[in-house]
Amino acid sequence: MRGHGTLAAHAGQPVEPDRNCGLCPRLSAFREVQRAAHPDWFNAPVPTFGKPDARLLIVGLAPGLRGANRTGRPFTGDYAGDLLYDTMIDYGFARGTYRADPADGLELVDAAITNAVRCVPPENKPTNDEINTCRRFFAATLAGFSRLSAIIALGKIAHDQTLKTLGVPLVRHKFGHGAVHALEGLPGVRLYDSYHCSRYNTNTGVLTPEMFRAVFAAVRRDLWAGSESR
Ligand code: SF4
Repeated sequence: MRGHGTLAAHAGQPVEPDRNCGLCPRLSAFREVQRAAHPDWFNAPVPTFGKPDARLLIVGLAPGLRGANRTGRPFTGDYAGDLLYDTMIDYGFARGTYRADPADGLELVDAAITNAVRCVPPENKPTNDEINTCRRFFAATLAGFSRLSAIIALGKIAHDQTLKTLGVPLVRHKFGHGAVHALEGLPGVRLYDSYHCSRYNTNTGVLTPEMFRAVFAAVRRDLWAGSESR
């Protein structure tokens, strides 16, 4: 990662938590309940999907109970994944066919997906303490992306986690769908905000597929422009 003091301190730290990470007592207790109820599910911190030489990093909130927590791959197995992966394929950030199964062979192209919080929280709501505690893994992940040009934050928690990781005051960059932020201390990296592609947001009309596609279109255009200017 290009020199940023706050982030540089996390370089080389573990990017993936232990399967039995117990740093968040409420989440590890919830995980044990799910392991007992669904022994065939993944039921562990969900690792980042994609390689750290990608120029685009997509940041979600946390694994969905029956999505990533069940399958072990971010956004895989629930509605949010249908919209996200279809959009990524359309804009050239993934290739193959998304079949809601980590064995579907889908490949990400110059892109990776991670979550602000790695363990499934009850009712999709991590506490502030849990978000703060899991930041060490997000920070180490971010620090490992050596060619990063774009971050898409899916929702305000992902947006805030990114700014806090970089030590940037939240008041300088308000979250808003479609907003694009130049990140202090990370030259050449832009943060693109999108409402989360959850079923709730799409069912209520907060986020339409067109609004979501517009964010990816902007990233695609900017990455192409960046490639041409090199
Ligand atoms: S959310 Fe992160 S820090 Fe908390 S238990 Fe899971 S992996 Fe560990």
